[in-house]
Amino acid sequence: MSHLTLALTVFTLLAVLGNSFYATYRVQRELLIASTQESNRAYAAKLAETVGLMLDTAQRQLAFSADLLGHEGLHPALATREVERLYRQTPMFNTVAIVSRDAVVQALYPDKARRVGMRATSAGAQQILASREPMITDPFVSTSGRYIVSVTYPIFSPTRDYLGFIAGNIYLESNNILSELLARHYYTDGTYIYVVDRSKTVIYHHNRDRIGRLVERNPAVEAVVRGKSGAAALVNSSGIEMLTGYAAVEGSRWGIVVQRPLEATLTNLNQQMKDILLASIPVNLLIIVGVWLASLFIARPLWQLARNTASMSNRDAQLRIARVRAWYYEAAQLKQAILHSIGHINTRFDELHAETRSDPLTGLLNKRGIQMLLHCYEEQQIPFSVLALDVDHFKRINDTHGHDVGDQVLVALAGLMQQNSRKDDEFCRSGGEEFLIFLPHTSKASASEIAERLRQLVAAAPMAPVGAVTLSIGVSEWSPERTYHAAHAIKRADRALYRAKAAGRNRTELDEELAG
Ligand code: GH3
Ligand code: MG
Ligand code: MG
Repeated sequence: MSHLTLALTVFTLLAVLGNSFYATYRVQRELLIASTQESNRAYAAKLAETVGLMLDTAQRQLAFSADLLGHEGLHPALATREVERLYRQTPMFNTVAIVSRDAVVQALYPDKARRVGMRATSAGAQQILASREPMITDPFVSTSGRYIVSVTYPIFSPTRDYLGFIAGNIYLESNNILSELLARHYYTDGTYIYVVDRSKTVIYHHNRDRIGRLVERNPAVEAVVRGKSGAAALVNSSGIEMLTGYAAVEGSRWGIVVQRPLEATLTNLNQQMKDILLASIPVNLLIIVGVWLASLFIARPLWQLARNTASMSNRDAQLRIARVRAWYYEAAQLKQAILHSIGHINTRFDELHAETRSDPLTGLLNKRGIQMLLHCYEEQQIPFSVLALDVDHFKRINDTHGHDVGDQVLVALAGLMQQNSRKDDEFCRSGGEEFLIFLPHTSKASASEIAERLRQLVAAAPMAPVGAVTLSIGVSEWSPERTYHAAHAIKRADRALYRAKAAGRNRTELDEELAG
């Protein structure tokens, strides 16, 4: 019972723990994912705002210079002064250039005079000249072979003649304003940032190999180029699950994407869960031991009752059961019921020994007593073994020493055997020099050992004046599960006894269990 309780306790505890552990993990995981996405989204929005502000400021300054140049004309001296002033005033650009409407470079800083007078043939320059509007170009390869983006402003004369443009260039593959601004925020926890332009081309990435690449089938990029901001969980181009926040940069159609690998996000959680598990072990062990001890305490009266009930017809058992501390209601009820039925059994056994059921010579139960005894065993479902004993060559004793001496021998034999038996064992005289001994709650195997012990005891105890007397014994058993009546057990013991006689006397034979 205590093993059962222990197993139940351990199982229950594991089930409860496992469940709460799993639930905690799920909830924590969802929370962590949600909070990481939210912080990535907020971070992307903040960066987008900063980049947007810088672009806006830069464009205003370009506008101011364009206005000045429009009024004053594209004089080389003025142009040279303006590009240098712009370069120094805004931290935004790697170079600043002024290009006339026929695509000739008028001034360039900090590249100085080397390329002044050359033609700007790049795709970007074509795009700017064609649009004649303030713009941020798509990434293109400049005349000098660099991969750049230009922020430009057109120059018009007061009479609205188009004179050319002024451009601030950002070198995408060198250190630039984006890398200054964003590389600082490349965290060791795996979070990284990249910037795409309206054509989904990467214009900033901490990994420079990625710059200039097209990002396709990425929901965050798709959303951000449409001017949207938000958060998503997605799988990146390397197949890694990412928690992503994104925000569009106002006025540029650039998009900033902040992402962190899901795994990096969950690493801490996994460690946390391990810590929780380890921390809970001592208390859990205490609980298991506690419940186990409690179950022992609960089971104690039950198994005490069970043990003593096995020999209910024993009067000591009655006392011991009365002394069992049945400390809770159910055990107390059980104890009362057992005591009640023991009282009943003992009354029945007491009745057995009334005079009419006893043999006057030996005081043992007579044939009527045997009938009652069998009835009691059957009624109370008490299993027993029975020994059938017959004195060997008793006629000779009578013949040699006389009938009275024979009687004395019978009395002495009964006394000797009773002294060497248990209280519960019932002794009967079934005929002249024949006895039955009933052994309740005793298997045939133990009964045969008892029979042998009695046989040897008697054989070794000479009775004056007769000398040694020997017994032949047959053993059989009965239990409520048997298909035959208790009375039939006596017949089976007799058959075994007969075999003992036939085999030479002074021996014990067991009932051979053939057909029930
Ligand atoms: P064995 O059992 O070994 O075959 O030999 P046995 O001599 O004991 O044979 P059996 O059982 O047939 O004989 C029983 C004898 O016991 C018959 C009878 O003279 C004697 N007897 C029966 N009842 C009493 C009694 O109450 N008192 C005395 N003294 N003798 C009895
Ligand atoms: Mg006989
Ligand atoms: Mg005999």
